[in-house]
Amino acid sequence: MYDKDNIFARIIRREVPAEIIYEDDYVISIKDIAPSAPIHILVLPKGEYISFHDFTEKATSDEIGHFYKIVRKICHDLGIEKKGYRVLSNIGSDGMQTIAHMHLHIIAGKNLGKLVN
Ligand code: 5GP
Repeated sequence: MYDKDNIFARIIRREVPAEIIYEDDYVISIKDIAPSAPIHILVLPKGEYISFHDFTEKATSDEIGHFYKIVRKICHDLGIEKKGYRVLSNIGSDGMQTIAHMHLHIIAGKNLGKLVN
């Protein structure tokens, strides 16, 4: 069950402040409050999706396509494509997802090292 009071739902409703770097009717992007690299951005669909898994099951193809186009646009606008970056989504308990509203992390600004050895 989607919890309507998760912190990202509250940010989308403007009940909690966040540094918003992009917003439209379907997507919002904010700076991560505890960045793990010089650039650490979160991109969220505004719809009530618990995780990547939930989003890619329930959202329309247009909504999913728009979401990923915006992820790319944000990376382009940040100017990180030349040096590279990492996009990831944590899912569920083994994935160490801490907030149950679908989001992607965009992480950049330094060599990020290997994610998986
Ligand atoms: P997850 O662990 O679910 O993949 O990622 C959640 C992310 O949200 C973490 O990187 C965490 O630092 C970030 N975060 C948690 N609470 C807030 C908040 O209130 N505002 C913002 N901007 N980021 C948050």
